[in-house]
Amino acid sequence: MRLPRGKMLGGSTGLNYMAYVRGHPNDYDTWKAGGADDWGYEDVLPFFKKSEDFAPHPDVKVEAEVHGIEGPLSVTHRDPELPFTGAFLRAAEQLDFEVGDYNGHAGRLTASRGIVGPHQFTIRNGQRCSAYSAFLEADMGARPNLTVATGAHASRVLLDEGWKAVGVEWAADGAILSATAAREVVLCAGAYMSPQLLLRSGVGPRLELEALGLKCLVDSPHVGKHLKDHLYLPIPFECPSSTALGPLACSLGLVPEAQGLFEEYMATGKGCPATSLYEASLFFSTGTRPEKAHTHDAQISWVASCYDPNFYTVCHGIVDFEEHFHVDKMFNLEKGTAILLAQLIQPESEGEVTLSGTGASDPPLIRHNYLTKPADVKAFVAICKQTIVIKDQMAKSEEMGEVLIPKNLASRYGTDLDSDELWEAWLRHYACTLYHPTSTCRIGDVVDPRCRVKGVRSLRVADASIMPDVVSGNTQAACVMIGEKVAAMIAEDNAVV
Ligand SMILES: Cc1cc2nc3c(=O)[nH]c(=O)nc-3n(C[C@H](O)[C@H](O)[C@H](O)COP(=O)(O)OP(=O)(O)OC[C@H]3O[C@@H](n4cnc5c(N)ncnc54)[C@H](O)[C@@H]3O)c2cc1C
Repeated sequence: MRLPRGKMLGGSTGLNYMAYVRGHPNDYDTWKAGGADDWGYEDVLPFFKKSEDFAPHPDVKVEAEVHGIEGPLSVTHRDPELPFTGAFLRAAEQLDFEVGDYNGHAGRLTASRGIVGPHQFTIRNGQRCSAYSAFLEADMGARPNLTVATGAHASRVLLDEGWKAVGVEWAADGAILSATAAREVVLCAGAYMSPQLLLRSGVGPRLELEALGLKCLVDSPHVGKHLKDHLYLPIPFECPSSTALGPLACSLGLVPEAQGLFEEYMATGKGCPATSLYEASLFFSTGTRPEKAHTHDAQISWVASCYDPNFYTVCHGIVDFEEHFHVDKMFNLEKGTAILLAQLIQPESEGEVTLSGTGASDPPLIRHNYLTKPADVKAFVAICKQTIVIKDQMAKSEEMGEVLIPKNLASRYGTDLDSDELWEAWLRHYACTLYHPTSTCRIGDVVDPRCRVKGVRSLRVADASIMPDVVSGNTQAACVMIGEKVAAMIAEDNAVV
């Protein structure tokens, strides 16, 4: 499976789908109950608000009190709504899910069956508002205490003999360079690369490091362990009324109207080209796991297109795609197609990040171990079946075609969408990462609740890797909150408040 990350300023927020989703309030209360002091919902809410510049949409119901309006990170709704998003929302509502603010407190806690809403996006004036454009761009070159080095690959943290982090070594243009830290070193390289940096610096499981001939300076058995991620299954179907002026067709200039739409977009920042295609989500509980009853373990999203064949062949490396998938129907501009995404958002299966070698440019070795816990398969099959219930409900008012089951699976497992066997095979063959890796330096095991690396002085981690468990929703909002909160902790601990 391809595991892309954004190798740029702003990291993966520079290439993600821009959906702004915080997770369930109980996710954070569960972190706190597990020992992550000061990371409960009431503790983190002010930091979500601090970064946010939320622009409400008159037609979309939100809980204004949970949103911030003075931060640098623009959060908006799409305008106009894409064709067919309303049909998805209505179908969920007809099935007794509440339409509301999935980032709200009340919405997530009190909606009896679950909550559905159009996505809030990190978009400003029709353009991506990444962590770079929100937090860094304006300060580039403007602050005497800020130096930004691009094309610089950090290879390890430098520790002195008292296990204090005193700097970082990095490679740029073939040279090995280093920087010293006056106060602290903060790793923000993401859930794959922050543990790799710790391991390369001699902080990790002793036996694992010594097996590679590396000196273990601090024996920290959980570094790189407990890797969590969300998986999703794209379920394609024909959807004639969705794509007559489909966003993908427009974006790729495949329909004559594209030119006009681009002109409108360039002038106003609005219209089809300003979409990430990933338009709305329903969050609910499958009820298959009592231990996850406090949160939502399921997400179903509406995507207003089947993407492009390259998405399946290049991004997801699906072998013999043309032979097994209904390519003729999936990308038929005349007929229109769409996908519903079934997403497993409270997985129990855990993977790990280890070292593939000792060279500075060796990539990390990433094993996700997806679907190794039977409970994950059971929950995921339940989410897929609920996805079909939504699709059938949509079909009562809209013209929609059949679900396009991959041919190789249909010939072996049949076409009965009630069959657990068919769904499990579909998941095991074609589910993809939703790109939300977390928890490889999690609070409690690798870092303390102030995100300081245990056993090392003056070294913190501030990214997705510190999450005690993955949140029940897309991860960028929580990562930005983590950045805000750790920044406040650093200021407090260094008495610069
Ligand atoms: C394709 C894709 C789509 C996504 N869609 C969404 C979405 O719609 N909504 C959502 O909420 N989330 C989404 N996400 C997830 C979200 O973007 C991530 O959870 C979030 O960006 C993670 O933040 P982070 O700071 O932990 O790591 P990252 O954002 O990955 O940042 C890590 C940074 O560290 C740098 N780095 C790594 N190693 C080194 C090194 N050795 N030396 C120097 N620099 C290094 C990287 O270049 C990068 O800039 C998506 C992610 C991807 C990849």
